[in-house]
Parts: sequence; structure tokens; C-alpha cells
Amino acid sequence: MTQPTVGVLALQGDVREHQRMLAAVGAQSRPVRTPAELDAVDALVLPGGESTTMWRLARTFGLLEPLRRRVAGGMPAYGSCAGMIMLADRIEGGVAGQETVGGMDITVRRNAFGRQVDSFEADLDFPALGAEPLHAVFIRAPWVEKVGDGVEVLSRVATADGDGTGNIVAVRQGRLLATSFHPELTADARVHALFLDIVKEA
Ligand code: GLN
Repeated sequence: MTQPTVGVLALQGDVREHQRMLAAVGAQSRPVRTPAELDAVDALVLPGGESTTMWRLARTFGLLEPLRRRVAGGMPAYGSCAGMIMLADRIEGGVAGQETVGGMDITVRRNAFGRQVDSFEADLDFPALGAEPLHAVFIRAPWVEKVGDGVEVLSRVATADGDGTGNIVAVRQGRLLATSFHPELTADARVHALFLDIVKEA
């Protein structure tokens, strides 16, 4: 492959922040709003934002089925926060009828931390990114409640009401990567660098 082009789903959410991070790790990126634009990219980032809005707009723009086909066909994809919800095969706490693109054999709970606190930051152990902890920003974030056999748990966050093992906040399944938090809102580009490695391997 020549230099891969990474699309950023640009229906809603923090698109520019992801494009800035992709540029920081040396990836070409462009916004994706139409099926033709989706056809033209090698990989896709699904940004943070609001999954219910993203889902409705994806339906309106005729993008939901094309997104499902590309992900099922092996296109590398990375979802942060609302983007993680979009990549999940199953969601808890969605609005009536809420659909996802799917592809990851995970159950994600929307607004999972909401009862405790809306937004928070934490330093995470994330061994796939090296020994240095990853500073993570959570905003009305989901967590991963269940993972299927093919899913690798990359990181967990300790929560006050947890059982001590912590809640799953980063996962990988083959070419699909998802985080509950927003690396695009920090200066640490290691998650985007990991995604770019996945894209280049594909
Ligand atoms: N709570 C939002 C949702 O359900 C996600 C929040 C975010 O992306 N920061 O889509």
C-alpha cells in the first residue's frame, strides 16, 4: 500500500481533533460524510460525540449499511467514546431503536460512569503502549461490560463501585480498536500511533 488515507467519520463529533492527532503520527486524513468518501479511504476513525446523533445522521446520509460493509470487509477502524459505541455489536442504555455499525464482539454501556460523575481524568495502565501510563479524559463515557473470546482487553480504569478489577475502557479485536476515553483531547498520540500500526499491517 502507498501511504494509507485514514478517514474520520464527520457526521458529528470531534473530527478536527482526530485529524490533528493523525497528522501528528504522520497519517493523511480526510473527513468522511458520504458513501463515496468512505469508498476512498483505507481506514476510519469514528470520533467522540453523541452516538444517538451519529446513528441518526448515518441513517439519513445512507452511510450505515456502507459502514457495516466496510467494517465487516476488514477495514481497520478506531472508535473513541461515542465511536466505541458505534463499533459495538451490542449496547446497553441506548435510546429506543438505537443501532450501531458493529463489528466488535462487545457489549458497551452508554453513559456508564454517569451516576458517579459526568467527566473525569485518570492515568491508565495500557501495556500495549509501553510502561508510561496513559492520561485519559472521560466525558459521559461508556465502558465495556462484556467481551467475546476474540477481544483483547487493553486497559481498565479503577472505579469506586467496582469489584477491584476495574472497568474495561480499551479493547482490540483484529483490526478494530476502541477506547471509552478521548486521546484526541490530549497531547499523547500513542493510541493513534497504535491505530496507524494496525492500518499499515492491514
Ligand atoms: N455519551 C455519549 C454517547 O452516548 C458519548 C460521549 C462522548 O463521546 N464523549 O454517545
